[in-house]
Amino acid sequence: MRRIGLIDGNDVPVLGQGTWMMGERRGERQAETNALIAGIDLGLTLIDTAEMYGDGAAEELVGEAIKGRREEVFLVSKVLPNHASRTGTPAACEASLRRLGTDVIDLYLLHWRGSIPLAETVAAFEALKQAGKIRHWGVSNFDVADMEELLEIAPSGACTVNQVLYNPEYRGIEFDLLPWQAAQGIPVMAYSPLGQGGELLQAKPLVAIAARHDATPAQVVLAWALRHPALIAIPKASRKAHVEANARAAALQLTPEDLAAIDAAFPPPRRKRPLAMI
Ligand code: NAP
Repeated sequence: MRRIGLIDGNDVPVLGQGTWMMGERRGERQAETNALIAGIDLGLTLIDTAEMYGDGAAEELVGEAIKGRREEVFLVSKVLPNHASRTGTPAACEASLRRLGTDVIDLYLLHWRGSIPLAETVAAFEALKQAGKIRHWGVSNFDVADMEELLEIAPSGACTVNQVLYNPEYRGIEFDLLPWQAAQGIPVMAYSPLGQGGELLQAKPLVAIAARHDATPAQVVLAWALRHPALIAIPKASRKAHVEANARAAALQLTPEDLAAIDAAFPPPRRKRPLAMI
């Protein structure tokens, strides 16, 4: 699995595993845990979760999946904007640590920007880092203007990633945010890279490209996202077969013709678009 260097010299795999909607149905729990474990075995060792997902149920599921192999995993979790105050952030972090069954989160993100001043959240993140409760921090759903404001406040090199929506249907970040982050050395973490498993995966051009490579449309859109050197994608798969297919996507090389066909069906942005989010 290809890896990406973070600004502090650590590195992470370019493909990880999302967990939104996992841990919420008792009958699916074992299959979901097995899917996450299979992903870790295949090198998808970056796991993305959040206190919001299932009100903590996804973090508990992740805790179950990483039992006994915490050191193999790069754990990402998120604080809700209304918790992201000077005192609320450490309280939320402690609750996440408890659910995850660990004493440190590798990357702690502000889930989206809310009304608490950014400086307060940054101070809380820095204090958590000092206390050894988190190793890195970053943000999610920040557009260029938010990122510029953040970098005015944050210590140099402190913001490690920005996690945003990115798939062929939502390419707005290619116009400005993606090149801006590349210039700053801040990788983009692409969420919903499979368009949440919806109509995107039935799009005729993607089906045709997949057929040429003996692959699936899901693998094509993951390979498409990973053509950017500074991008990490975090597909969510609660089925083991999906996890295995996703892991294989990291080796799929799209041709210039494939990329042109995707551009024709899902045109790249020609002007600024407001950041889309789910
Ligand atoms: P996604 O990863 O684009 O799509 C997940 C869906 O695709 C599931 O229904 C899954 O099915 C299906 N799938 C997975 N692998 C497949 C394959 N190889 N072939 C066909 N279908 C496949 O959507 P997402 O969950 O919204 O996004 C991924 C992660 O990003 C989330 O889980 C979450 O961790 C994060 N996220 C963050 C934010 C944010 O605001 N920061 C917002 C949204 C998401 P099965 O589950 O049945 O396998």
